[in-house]
Amino acid sequence: MQAVSKSKNDERELIVSTVRKFVEKEVIPVASELEHRNEYPHELVRQMKEMGLFGLNIPEEYGGADVDTTTFAMVFEEISRGWLGLAGIIGSHSVMCDVLVRFGAEEQKGRFLPDMATGEKRGGICLTEPNAGTDLQNISTTAARDGEVYRINGSKMWITNARHGNTFLLLAKTDPAAQPAHQGMSAFIFEKGAPGLTVSRDIDKLGYKSVETCELHFDNFPVPAANLIGGAAGQGFKQAMTGLEAERLNVAARGLGIARAAFEEAIRYAQRRVTFGKPICEHQTIQNKLADMATRIEASRLLIYSAAEKRDRGERCDLEAGMAKLFATETAAEVSFEAMRILGANGYSKDFPVERYYRDAPLVVIGGGTNELQRLIIARNLLKKYKDNG
Ligand SMILES: Cc1cc2nc3c(=O)[nH]c(=O)nc-3n(C[C@H](O)[C@H](O)[C@H](O)COP(=O)(O)OP(=O)(O)OC[C@H]3O[C@@H](n4cnc5c(N)ncnc54)[C@H](O)[C@@H]3O)c2cc1C
Repeated sequence: MQAVSKSKNDERELIVSTVRKFVEKEVIPVASELEHRNEYPHELVRQMKEMGLFGLNIPEEYGGADVDTTTFAMVFEEISRGWLGLAGIIGSHSVMCDVLVRFGAEEQKGRFLPDMATGEKRGGICLTEPNAGTDLQNISTTAARDGEVYRINGSKMWITNARHGNTFLLLAKTDPAAQPAHQGMSAFIFEKGAPGLTVSRDIDKLGYKSVETCELHFDNFPVPAANLIGGAAGQGFKQAMTGLEAERLNVAARGLGIARAAFEEAIRYAQRRVTFGKPICEHQTIQNKLADMATRIEASRLLIYSAAEKRDRGERCDLEAGMAKLFATETAAEVSFEAMRILGANGYSKDFPVERYYRDAPLVVIGGGTNELQRLIIARNLLKKYKDNG
């Protein structure tokens, strides 16, 4: 593992332990209740703003914390250990910030990033459409230049933070006829306010409740031309894909957080529940489960740290981030189900948090690029790395 300086290490430990305390004191006691009521966690969001969590990946000159990727992943693990929904509120917001930091013009960064760091301006990413998710080049939302603005027309689907957020990254086609399609795609930052944008529906979901996921309609909605990221049309697909590389690691860390929460609940329960005269943790079948769960969790953590360190060295980490996302999120799904088995009927009850972990886990398998897509990315990169020139 890469050496980290002592001061950097102390700083990381301080950030992560502060978040851990916040999660244990403020989040865990209320998470299941709020989630069952599908109630937005306004008070927790206020506290997250105060803690600077909306500016985690924003440079210090714009008021952010600018933490390295490993610290960023550790923070997401801690929050998701308490409540995946809460991590969702800063998750897609941080993807938008990442794209702006990397590709935004200086003027755009100065205009948006300070308020994004405080959470005053916050939101997420508008990529997916009713007919295009994995295949993003197939989007049909258009952005047509009209003087000083672009007019947006089309629909976006599954947009996290769309109701409570106010500022978003949008992917649209500025040249719908371009071939290949990605050359005609552009990314914008837009703010709510002007007429022509409707948040039409909150999608009812299996889990990941309380944080809203919505459908949006754009009808000649004006976005200032000055908000075209980097000032260059035709770069949006590449910009969004780079943001998704970062998202893979944050989604992997969310999976790790869910898995850890489920495991901790299961190992505690296994020491208290007695069957056939002894705690169930003394039955070998249960021990095998606990051993497998903990091993997968540790392997997930190491895959995430290894990819994060590569990214912090300034290298592309598509292969490693893909492996981390695939393994950690499948682990979340598997471990939450195993935890449910260990708790028996109580695992199926809303009196225990395991049912929430079980309902939340599939989102991390699907979101941030489905795991089917991760396997394609992994295989593509392996074939590049091991190219047979014979
Ligand atoms: C709760 C939630 C929140 C979300 N938040 C956001 C958000 O904030 N912003 C946003 O833009 N999107 C968001 N999404 C959308 C998410 O990114 C997409 O659902 C995801 O990218 C998959 O797209 P799809 O649902 O259209 O599935 P499809 O692309 O239709 O895929 C269907 C199935 O086919 C598989 N598949 C597709 N193509 C291939 C291929 N080439 N090879 C093998 N298998 C393939 C997929 O893996 C999947 O199993 C969210 C989704 C959920 C569930």
